[in-house]
Amino acid sequence: MYCIECGAEGDALIGSLCSKCFLKRHPLVTLSQTVDITVCAHCGSLMKGNKVVEIGGVKGEGVVDDPAARDIIARASVEAAVKIEEDAEADLDISLEELDERNMRANIVANMSFQGQPIAERALTTVVRFKNSVCVKCSRQKGFYFEAVLQLRADGRALEDEDFNSLETVIRSTLDETKGFISKVEHVRGGYDYYLSATSDAKGIALRMAKDMGAKVTESNSLVGRKDGNDMYRLTYAVRLPAYRVGDFFVIDDSLGRVTAVSKGRVTYLEVMSGRRMGLTADDMERKVSLIGGRSHLRLAVVVSMSKDEVQVMDPDDFKTLDLKRPPWLEEGINEVEIVKYEGTMYLAGVPGNK
Ligand SMILES: [Zn+2]
Ligand SMILES: [Zn+2]
Repeated sequence: MYCIECGAEGDALIGSLCSKCFLKRHPLVTLSQTVDITVCAHCGSLMKGNKVVEIGGVKGEGVVDDPAARDIIARASVEAAVKIEEDAEADLDISLEELDERNMRANIVANMSFQGQPIAERALTTVVRFKNSVCVKCSRQKGFYFEAVLQLRADGRALEDEDFNSLETVIRSTLDETKGFISKVEHVRGGYDYYLSATSDAKGIALRMAKDMGAKVTESNSLVGRKDGNDMYRLTYAVRLPAYRVGDFFVIDDSLGRVTAVSKGRVTYLEVMSGRRMGLTADDMERKVSLIGGRSHLRLAVVVSMSKDEVQVMDPDDFKTLDLKRPPWLEEGINEVEIVKYEGTMYLAGVPGNK
């Protein structure tokens, strides 16, 4: 008997395949890279979704603090996470190794058989992660728990949906879910308040917003009580985003600029007329620039005629024709342009349809 795939000789073929080739097609046993176990951050109960549950026969408050119970919970969770294909069976030999307070590595040897016929062993590995949440009972008892507040605002304007989306992205990707969680988000006048269970998360998020979004961060704390003889503080991070956003137009030295990137202390922009990339310090951005705003400030204007160096554009307000310098990107035959007006002056901003 020969394997039809590799030609190996053997008597224990499955279908017409040797066990090696068969396993290439059918892994039989698979396991995700991580297995998550959710624990109430206050009482230590095991949770699934919003419900308190038992895992491997273990339940109750604080069970994860007991090493023996922790072991049982981890094993049962790994066993439940192993996927075994139809017609296959697997004996699992699981060994656990503590990585840190919140994570364990599980090494598994699966002794696999298919339709009753023993096939091979497969080694699998995964990381068991203990994650925090709050059970219903504790959230009722404690109202909502938080150690720090992130107050997200912007200079001279209210935060909008657009800001919210980019802020959320930073928050969700910075938040360390093994240690903390968001207790509450409030849409307040001018911005958003995030109540976070862990000070370290609030700080990490605030610093990231300073670095990647040019935000100014002020930290303050207030005494909220005493616990175990220690003063308890609640931290507030006031995060103030700059008035400008990526995509906003502004006037600098009588020419139109458009913000292309914002990072700590620095703004990159497009000089609209020449199409050149330029840079400014955040300080200069505040001192030297007249901010206009985003695309909503753009208007359409008719091109009356153009020559090599000039273009005649009709002012959409008084229908007077204005001579402007012709930018290199304004091609022959274009009869409509986007303009932006600032303090009575008209600036060419682009061609409709080009972003
Ligand atoms: Zn084969
Ligand atoms: Zn609880």
